[in-house]
Amino acid sequence: MTEYKKPLPYITDLSKPYWEFAKKHELRMQQCNKCRNFWYPPSFVCPSCWSRDFQWAQLSGRGKVNSWVVFHRAYYPGFQDEVPYNVIEVQLDEGPRLMSNLVGVKNEDIRENMPVEVFFEDVTHEVALPKFRPRR
Ligand SMILES: [Zn+2]
Repeated sequence: MTEYKKPLPYITDLSKPYWEFAKKHELRMQQCNKCRNFWYPPSFVCPSCWSRDFQWAQLSGRGKVNSWVVFHRAYYPGFQDEVPYNVIEVQLDEGPRLMSNLVGVKNEDIRENMPVEVFFEDVTHEVALPKFRPRR
């Protein structure tokens, strides 16, 4: 594995399970055991009913492109070879939204509500990042 030059997530005690599951290529988020709500980013309480009773439930990994931008300038040296690159906001089927990159489609072909699915990219020995590709 070559040296990864882009920013890595800042992992806290609270977000650690999310990244541990990502390392196993599982997209899991907190789900409330009382009202079944999913949420992200991680929090100690359900933002819907304030219950502290939750589980790390597996998501389908499916969603739709809600919004996106295309960067034409590298704000971090690590992105130098990739401009122009996209950053998308995915509306996951279970409710939460996630920022990521869409791979396997030209930037000019990205559309609102485009169906996408997650896959994981192992960027270091410790971190796998959820990325998305078009769903057929
Ligand atoms: Zn709840």
